[in-house]
Amino acid sequence: MRKFSILITLCSLLFLINASSALADFTLAMKAKQVAPDVYAIETPSRALPNPENQGWNSNAAFVVTDSGVILFDTGSSFFIGFAMKKAIAQVTDQPVRWIINSHAHGDHWLGNAAFKDSVKDIYATEQVAKNIKSEGKNWVDNFNTLTKGATGESEILAPKTFITERTKIKLGDKEITLFLSGDSHSPGDILMWLANEKVLVTGDVIYSDRMPSTFDSNIPQWIKLLGELEGMKPNVVVPGHGVVTDKQGVTRLKNLLQTFWSAVEAGYEEDKSAYEMAPEVIVAMSEFKSHYPGLEEKVQRDISKVYLQVEAASF
Ligand SMILES: [Zn+2]
Repeated sequence: MRKFSILITLCSLLFLINASSALADFTLAMKAKQVAPDVYAIETPSRALPNPENQGWNSNAAFVVTDSGVILFDTGSSFFIGFAMKKAIAQVTDQPVRWIINSHAHGDHWLGNAAFKDSVKDIYATEQVAKNIKSEGKNWVDNFNTLTKGATGESEILAPKTFITERTKIKLGDKEITLFLSGDSHSPGDILMWLANEKVLVTGDVIYSDRMPSTFDSNIPQWIKLLGELEGMKPNVVVPGHGVVTDKQGVTRLKNLLQTFWSAVEAGYEEDKSAYEMAPEVIVAMSEFKSHYPGLEEKVQRDISKVYLQVEAASF
């Protein structure tokens, strides 16, 4: 028995040594950028998918400092990235992260949750997102490790347990936030955060400000409708899931891009073209957006068959 427990201790020590050496390998410094009083964004400079160069850090996070803890919206693609965020937050406040919001289930937005295990009280998301995190979490860890050649390492899967089912106002410390549903716009179950007093909108991947959005998991007509509603909220600041912090203009530009994408696929569909056949024309139709949204061509080619199915379903 005693030998067994020594073995366990040795194993956990080895794990810790391993984890800390990989932690030392994560070299990208993060810096919080203030966007309103007590509200900060942590922006990645990367416009790519997770790769060895960005060490998996390719998505944004945001946080709000309250009088009794920090509210953190999204936690990045790995435990190490979550840990680096923790250090960036500590440069701004002594308050620990007490509440986490996971915008959606894609692995670049929640795999850092476990880095806050020591202080977090509630992790908010929709039930759909929690379910997808549990069923697909391990695949995201493996996938990112392949893409980054091991830079993202192992990440414990810490799933949300507090579920948002409708538009909800929550008082956390001395701050009030509103969480609301996207209607499955960008992916099933995604949520957004609205800070009405500060007029700051934190969107997760419902907004990509200067990188082509992923549409493989989306509902584009609903997404376009939602973007119209977001314009109507007149936000002063929009913290997107990918790209630089923007404002209402970034919402409008993305709405136009999605509308153009949808119309071009619809036109191809009406001419009886397959997704594969219409792709070059769709890319041409979207050329005015190309310089502002890197990765446009690559992502249209990757996602067009899924958008085609949406257009087909909408035509019945
Ligand atoms: Zn993302």
